[in-house]
Amino acid sequence: MNGPISRREALRNLALGAGSVLIAGAAGAASYTAAKPPPAAGPPPATGPLPHLVPTDPLAIALSYHESARTVDVVKFPTYKPDQKCGSCMQLNGKAGDPWRPCNLFPGKLVNAEGWCKVWLKKVPVAT
Ligand code: SF4
Repeated sequence: MNGPISRREALRNLALGAGSVLIAGAAGAASYTAAKPPPAAGPPPATGPLPHLVPTDPLAIALSYHESARTVDVVKFPTYKPDQKCGSCMQLNGKAGDPWRPCNLFPGKLVNAEGWCKVWLKKVPVAT
């Protein structure tokens, strides 16, 4: 049966071939989806307590972070006021009362709630 094929037979073979390609493609896509890791949604969650920010950290130096607001030199930092500390700053997160808490400006580190830096911004109470 090596003679010329009819148009009908050629179309049927073409349709069967296209169907095979579609099935193979779908199977390949399914296996690709199964093997592909889920997309990352930001940094991996912390698995333990975060380290404390130290005043010698380059970003801490740049923002004049002090572990204790009581040590702030008011001559060097004239915008500092005695009621300013991390615990009253809007950048501070975490649980109120914890002595070390996350700050938006120092990701991956904990700042001292009694500390201060030169970008302190008064926390605005949330209306309920
Ligand atoms: Fe403290 Fe606010 Fe500076 Fe963060 S931004 S270190 S909470 S004063």
